Amino acid sequence: MEPLADVIIDRVAEALDRAFTYRIPDVLQNSIAIGQLVSVPFRGTVVAGVVRRVYSGLAISGLKDIVGIRDAEPVVTPPLLELAEWMCERYLCYLPQALRAMIPASVRKSKRTRPSQTWYRVQGTRQGRPSRKQSLFEYIARCGAVDRRTLLDAFPQAGPALHALIQENVVEVMPLPPQDIAALTTPHPLTPEQDRALRSFLQEPATSWLLEGVTGSGKTEVYLALIADALERGKQALVLLPEIALTPQTVTRFRGRFGSGVAVWHSGLSQDERRQTWEAVRQGRLKVVVGARSAIFLPFTALAVIVIDEEHEPSYKQEEHPRYHTREVALWRGKREGALVVLGSATPSLESRYKAQSGEMGHVQIPRRVLGRTMPTVEIVDMRDELKEGNRHIFSRLLQDEMSRARARDEQIILFLNRRGYSTFVLCRSCGQALECPDCAVSLTYHQQEERLACHYCLRQFPLPKRCPECGSEKIRYFGAGTERVVEEVRALFPQARLLRADRDVLKDPQDYATLYHQFYRGEADVLVGTQMIAKGMDFPRVGLVGVVAADTALHLPDFRSAERTFQLLVQAGGRSGRADIPGRVVIQSYNPDHYAIKLAKTHDYSAFYEEEIAFRSATRYPPFSQLWLLAFEGEDRAAVAESARQGAEALRAGWPGDEVLGPAPAPLSRVRGRYRYHVLLKHFADPGKQSVVPHLKELQNRLAGLRITRDPYLLM
Ligand code: ADP
Ligand code: ZN
Ligand code: ZN
Repeated sequence: MEPLADVIIDRVAEALDRAFTYRIPDVLQNSIAIGQLVSVPFRGTVVAGVVRRVYSGLAISGLKDIVGIRDAEPVVTPPLLELAEWMCERYLCYLPQALRAMIPASVRKSKRTRPSQTWYRVQGTRQGRPSRKQSLFEYIARCGAVDRRTLLDAFPQAGPALHALIQENVVEVMPLPPQDIAALTTPHPLTPEQDRALRSFLQEPATSWLLEGVTGSGKTEVYLALIADALERGKQALVLLPEIALTPQTVTRFRGRFGSGVAVWHSGLSQDERRQTWEAVRQGRLKVVVGARSAIFLPFTALAVIVIDEEHEPSYKQEEHPRYHTREVALWRGKREGALVVLGSATPSLESRYKAQSGEMGHVQIPRRVLGRTMPTVEIVDMRDELKEGNRHIFSRLLQDEMSRARARDEQIILFLNRRGYSTFVLCRSCGQALECPDCAVSLTYHQQEERLACHYCLRQFPLPKRCPECGSEKIRYFGAGTERVVEEVRALFPQARLLRADRDVLKDPQDYATLYHQFYRGEADVLVGTQMIAKGMDFPRVGLVGVVAADTALHLPDFRSAERTFQLLVQAGGRSGRADIPGRVVIQSYNPDHYAIKLAKTHDYSAFYEEEIAFRSATRYPPFSQLWLLAFEGEDRAAVAESARQGAEALRAGWPGDEVLGPAPAPLSRVRGRYRYHVLLKHFADPGKQSVVPHLKELQNRLAGLRITRDPYLLM
């Protein structure tokens, strides 16, 4: 018998689905543990790997030795290793892909191991010209406290500058990591509703909760109280936000309460910043992380609370390998690691509300805003009437009037435009009808190249009509208006108004977003025109009017979630107004004012919306009533791609008679960068007596070229 270890090799190209066995040499006998990052020989080179199992057994001949360890401490905790295995099964990825989501690249690639001893922390401030010394000082200040090893990783030649800073008495040397996190500001006394929510979370047996509270109901304040409770018990807490909502304002709110013990995690961090935060979480030095979705994989060891704010946001779904949904991973981790999971939203996803309704998780509702603040007044304008009465402007008369009034009262205005789906659907300007598939009740997508319409559910194709099939009018057209156009129109109406524009073309990185946010917050602009980017997470006290220029754009996307997305966007956008003392007004312009997603946004009636929408999902057997799998085929040779897709669909139909298989057919975006794309959609009905569909899908994925499979996809284009 010999000491052996099973190691997961860090190679993603080869679709490695298993661990490989190595011998543990004498010198490493006492240092190999589960989750450790090691170097092993593999196919002629030395690669990194993660130890999955340590045991003693019979070594078969030819077994190789582990050649070294790359990090003194394990890089993944045992629960994270289990999570990786669960993800492979659920999302059809391979172990190395799941592990890569958990270990920062800079750690994975490190070659040496050094013990950590000394810590540094700043005392006071230091102003200086840009220099090596000054940037080192600022770096330490940013970290709060940093150990020597991490510091030298970031600044390899830091020695002399560090010494100088210590001499200047602006950097302090400590033998041990600083443990205490001081609460800097005092919390608001909770309202009875907030208090009831908090007590439910802490006292009732459910371990996962849906916190359904209208915009401005004080959900964030409840999260803060939950975190404070976790910290008092010496535990860690994680708050997840959609990337775009990680505004300086939100972060400040957490930092203000919990001080420098709060770290931020988002895609804009450098490798070094990532490594440090990851390291501090692993060592338990960092107690609170506020981050975007990938923070769900940080190596917490004493996690007590996971909050997912705006839990309905599609950005919680990762569309690249591993194609996880953050909410599902959070619920898994919460259960495995004994942490409370709170999903917060004013407009929960249908999936979460369904779970809460059926008792699978706890449910707390806060139907009112804090401090007696009122919900905004919402008016819906029927744009068909505007047209009939001769107004061809992109702004209705009501919106123009409200804008003038808001300007006169010196209130800020937000004009909101949902540009997703721009120009892809066809709308009749006379009757408001979007051309729909007769079988599926989803709108048809216009394909410019082929001059055809296609349904992306049943995947049938139709010729482009000259007249509206509903009313015979010839005023059918591809619908859409961009932010630039809206800005021009505002300028024409209010030449004095100072304008800001927010869309993906002008906001390229998080820094631009922060700058814009502050400009508008400080009142340096009167009107903010933007896409859905500005619909969430922003809290501007001086906004009196929100105008939704075109409410229908998301409604007509070829996506079974289109009504849900529309309702969410309208309610969230409306929620940007009337946050402080100014009563808010919202004007929604629509060609479909009778659609339930639009009508119910007027009364902010989420429950009524849910009832309508869940009935539709149940009738059409979309999630949460089925597991949806998207099989996307892609390649340069159209015939070959079509043939692969045909084989895939055929195999599914033969193997899974109880399920529904749609397609194959060209994808909504049927050719991207010269590659042809075909889709097959599987509605799978899991039941306990039935064999899992996953091995079958894995087999297809390995057999058919250019196939990517996504569970419960959000991107159906
Ligand atoms: P939500 O997260 O539900 O949109 P917030 O927590 O951001 O709501 O609260 C909205 C506003 O009300 C914030 O400015 C917040 O500081 C304030 N607020 C929240 N709770 C209280 C409270 N109990 N007392 C006073 N003000 C509060
Ligand atoms: Zn018509
Ligand atoms: Zn159809």
